[in-house]
Amino acid sequence: MPEFVVLGLPVHISNNYLKCVQEQLRKREGAHVVTINSEMAMQAQSNSELASVIRKAELVIPDGSGVVLFLRSQGIQINRCPGIELSEAVVKFASEQKLPVFLIGGAAEVAKTVVYNWEQKFPDLAIAGIWDGYFSTEQEADLCEQLQASQPRIILVGLGVPRQEFWIRDHRYLCPNAVWIGVGGSFDIWSGRKIRAPQWLRDHHLEWLYRLYKEPWRARRMLALPHFVLAVTSQVIKQAISKLLGRSNAKNPV
Ligand code: UDP
Repeated sequence: MPEFVVLGLPVHISNNYLKCVQEQLRKREGAHVVTINSEMAMQAQSNSELASVIRKAELVIPDGSGVVLFLRSQGIQINRCPGIELSEAVVKFASEQKLPVFLIGGAAEVAKTVVYNWEQKFPDLAIAGIWDGYFSTEQEADLCEQLQASQPRIILVGLGVPRQEFWIRDHRYLCPNAVWIGVGGSFDIWSGRKIRAPQWLRDHHLEWLYRLYKEPWRARRMLALPHFVLAVTSQVIKQAISKLLGRSNAKNPV
């Protein structure tokens, strides 16, 4: 699949990411789906382990507005694909195809509430297992055993970035045919514990502003957005200068 490199990280380019996931499921090859936003891209600049996991993921989708607006500024006509929406579409597909789903992450009872809510919407949904995201080492061993025994086809991991990316990297061998998606705080939304920004804010790339209003403690983390803009701008300028000097062989500017 075509990709565009943003700050040294790949972003796969597609106008139908659900189809990409369906294709991975059909091939039974297994996949790690990373949903990238500016916060994650900036974390990866100073965390080479995270950068390496992102580079190895089978599918990296543009979850955040910063990433999408940057891609568009580079002439890539692409729409934002929030991981939460892609995951919902994957769960719907799973219920239609009777593919078992496993949920890992969130505070106690949160994932259970998610399953309860989904079962109202998708009566045919097969749930292979539910684990909250605050497990001890002993509990983790049980979780791994359950994953291996149940072989779910879709595994949603909501442990926050970068823990969920590392967890998927370290455990995907247990279910090599599954599609693993890092879903961040999506369980909190699906359970009704938190509310997503209204659609009009999302449509105007302002979901981050709503999050900041609701969770002001995120302010420090969200500084990643202006830092991301500065970083991509400086990379584009450097690239333009090398091009002028005839030194660039890069696949794309950033
Ligand atoms: N979480 C978890 N275990 C941990 C740390 C966090 O299950 O050890 C969950 C937490 O309950 C929340 C999610 O991970 O549901 C992180 O949410 P956040 O919105 O911070 O996600 P991010 O911004 O990292 O995507």
